[in-house]
Amino acid sequence: MIDLRSDTVTKPTPEMYDAMAKAVVGDDVYGDDPTINELEQTVAEMLGFEAGMFVTSGTQSNFTALLTHCGRGDEYIIGETYHVYKSEAVGTAALGGIIPQTIPVKNDGSVDIDLIESKIKPEDMHFPRTKLICFENTYNGKALSPDYMTTAANVASKHGLSSHLDGARLMNAAIAYGCSPKDLTRGFTTVSLCLSKGLGAPVGSVLTGKSDFIKEARRARKMLGGGMRQAGILAACGLVAVQTQIDRLEEDHRLASRLATELAQIPEVQTAPEGANTNMIFIEVPEADRDPLKEFLKQNGILIGGRPPTFRLVLHRDIKEKDIPMIISAFSKYFRS
Ligand SMILES: *Cc1c(COP(=O)(O)O)cnc(C)c1O
Repeated sequence: MIDLRSDTVTKPTPEMYDAMAKAVVGDDVYGDDPTINELEQTVAEMLGFEAGMFVTSGTQSNFTALLTHCGRGDEYIIGETYHVYKSEAVGTAALGGIIPQTIPVKNDGSVDIDLIESKIKPEDMHFPRTKLICFENTYNGKALSPDYMTTAANVASKHGLSSHLDGARLMNAAIAYGCSPKDLTRGFTTVSLCLSKGLGAPVGSVLTGKSDFIKEARRARKMLGGGMRQAGILAACGLVAVQTQIDRLEEDHRLASRLATELAQIPEVQTAPEGANTNMIFIEVPEADRDPLKEFLKQNGILIGGRPPTFRLVLHRDIKEKDIPMIISAFSKYFRS
C-alpha cells in the first residue's frame, strides 16, 4: 500500500526496533527511566528550553500544557482552525473549564497579530481572564517563518501573557526555512513536538518549557492518566527519531512538490490555491469523482485522506521516489477511463 493519509502511518525503522530491544528503562513516574530522561533533555535542548516531558501524544502534550497555563474560567486566544481548539475533542473546555477565544486563520496559516491584541481582555470581574495565546507551526502543511514566530511570541510577552506553540510538525518548518528549530521557538513559554508524525517514531510527543513549568505539568499528565512506567522502550524510538529523522524531511518536501507539480498536469485535479510548502498537498476534484476516485485509488493500492471537498496527500518516510510515477499513473488512468 502507498499510504498517503498521514505521516503518522510510518512503521518503526530497524534502528528503532533495535533501540527498543536495548533500551535501559526504569519507572518514569519516579523519574527513574534514563532513556526517557535523555529524550526529554535532548528535545528540550534542541528547542532551546530547560526541561521536557515525554507524553503519549500531541493531544496530551497540548492538554497538559493548557491545564498548566490556565485554570477554570481562564481564556486562551487561538486560530479557529488550529488543532488545539478544533481537533482535540475540546478536552480543554470539557475537562479543564478553559475557554477559547477563536480568531480567523489566514491563508498562510498565520493569525493577525493586531486581531489577537484586540481580543485580550482587560482585568474586569465580568470578563474571562486572558492567560495564553496558542500558535501552530506547521499549519496544514504550511510553514510559518522565523520572523512571524518571533512576532507571535512577542505579542504574548508584551501583554504579560503566556504563549504555547503547537509544533507537532515543527521540524518540517525548520527544514522548510533552513533554520534552527530554536529560530521558531524563541520567546515561547512552551512548545510541543510530535515524535510520531514525520519523525517516524511509533508513539509520543515532548512538551518543553522552563523546569518549574514542566514540574507542574507532570501533575497534569498524572491527572490525565499519562504517567507511564518503563516507557523508555518508546522513548528509545523517539531518540532515534530526533537523532536520525530530521534532515530526511527535506526528501518528503521535495517529493510533495514533485507530486503537486505532476498532479497539476491532470485537468480535473485542482491543487489547493494556497499550496503547502512542506510534506502535504491538498487537491480537489469534481464532486462526482470524489468517492469513485478514492475507491479506484484504493483498489490500486493507494490510500488518500482529507475531508470533502479537499483530499490530503501526505509524504513521509515510507513513500519513496519510485512511488510517485505509480500515484500519477493511477490518477491519470482514473480520469482517462
Ligand atoms: C497531530 C497533531 C496534534 C496531535 O497529535 P496526536 O499525537 O495525534 O494527538 C496536535 N497538533 C497538530 C498540529 C497535529 O498535527
